[in-house]
Amino acid sequence: MNHIIDGVLRFQREVHPNREALFHQLALEHSPSAMFIGCADSRIVPEVLTQQNPGSLFVVRNAGNIVPPHSTVPGGVTASIEYAVAVLGVPDIVICGHSGCGAMTAILRGAHHLEKLPAVARWLHYADAARDAVASQHADAPEDVKLSALVRENVLAQLDHLLSHPVVADAIQNKQLRLHGWVYDIAAGSVITYDARIRKFVPIGDAFANATPTE
Ligand SMILES: [Zn+2]
Repeated sequence: MNHIIDGVLRFQREVHPNREALFHQLALEHSPSAMFIGCADSRIVPEVLTQQNPGSLFVVRNAGNIVPPHSTVPGGVTASIEYAVAVLGVPDIVICGHSGCGAMTAILRGAHHLEKLPAVARWLHYADAARDAVASQHADAPEDVKLSALVRENVLAQLDHLLSHPVVADAIQNKQLRLHGWVYDIAAGSVITYDARIRKFVPIGDAFANATPTE
């Protein structure tokens, strides 16, 4: 823990004074440019991956970058989505999966690996649609291929869940919100994004280059 406290002291001594204008501005306003829903995995650092300053991303992270479908059950993800869209008015939401995801690996290995983790097991049922898609399309594939497929299918399943939230559906209908599905490869540093027009993930640079001004 000492290295973490040392980090806070270094932040106060070196980082904050050097960026005082930014932090004073941030103290007055909260106006993020996007919501980022990622995995709680410590290797996923949205601001590093996207090279954004504090104040730019409204971040929710949990095991498996999951978005429960809309319901009346109180939930942190649901409340955060509602706040981001209805109050902060974020114009974009990114759901980002990643290579080597422990949550997705647990799903692949089956329920018996989660016997001592009942909360995790229940939580990961929100990825059942992705699990079923991989079971039917990649039944005989090696585990690494299945895992990559599951990470991608899970991003698509959670995008579907996101659409079930009325605040999201309304904002999309009013052309005030766009959704993005990403997968980040930790070793390669690469990011692929889902292109709904061709129903495939493509390198994020290609998608950006091909985007028209209205997208
Ligand atoms: Zn993960």
